[in-house]
Amino acid sequence: MTDILSISGIAKRFGGFVAVENVTMLISEKGIHSLIGPNGAGKSTLFDCITGILIPESGQVTFDGKDITRWSVHRRVHAGMARTFQITSLFRALSARENVALAARSRAGANFNVWRSASSLADVNQKAELILADVGIAHVADQLAGELSHGDQRALEVAVALALEPRVLFMDEPTAGMGREDVGHLSDVLRNLGKRMAILLVEHDMSMVLRLSDRVTVLAEGKIIADGSPDEISKSPEVEAIYLGSGSFEV
Ligand code: ADP
Ligand code: MG
Repeated sequence: MTDILSISGIAKRFGGFVAVENVTMLISEKGIHSLIGPNGAGKSTLFDCITGILIPESGQVTFDGKDITRWSVHRRVHAGMARTFQITSLFRALSARENVALAARSRAGANFNVWRSASSLADVNQKAELILADVGIAHVADQLAGELSHGDQRALEVAVALALEPRVLFMDEPTAGMGREDVGHLSDVLRNLGKRMAILLVEHDMSMVLRLSDRVTVLAEGKIIADGSPDEISKSPEVEAIYLGSGSFEV
């Protein structure tokens, strides 16, 4: 399969501390690729270097054949890289549908004129409807985002990111604070999305990662220590060694 994203020799320091060291990885244009590792391994730092929140000291990020290492977050999002946030970024006083429609409108950008084109407004609402169905929350389209259950809010965050029509969807610990049922629901949603786009997932729920991922990269102390299928990762002595005793490696 073609790679949509190539990360090559990325390094990021904070003062004298090396948080990410010479990381190289490839992300296929479709499927779920998880990035795991113990606390402080550098997952979020690497993630931020890829999504543009941080600029690495060295190395290159290539998206769809373009060197985007120094591009702004905004430019990356526009090119097809969208992320969901750990901290909720929804408009709580707007309905679920309105939240998604707003993102869809921002995607349509300058081409969208609410006053001139009633049909494009209908288009945007219809698109929002389809996306809400995609993430399994069409039934709450008219409810205020602030009044949705925690799980539905997280699903809505995914819907908002999807309205930006990403080719890669980035998620840093999407299951944080979620109950078991919601984790199951999100897994179903991601499994479906992974058939048509790339998903880069930073996740601590190991059983979810091993069940869901097409590929897993393991980071420890800023370096990649293992990379492979969930099956290979769960059998890796290097991976077992770093998770041993932490109690978080449950297969
Ligand atoms: P992870 O997401 O794997 O838990 P992080 O990428 O958040 O790890 O952090 C990696 C290391 O870099 C940690 O030791 C953390 O304390 C350090 N770190 C992260 N962000 C900063 C920052 N803005 N300033 C200084 N140190 C940081
Ligand atoms: Mg983190």
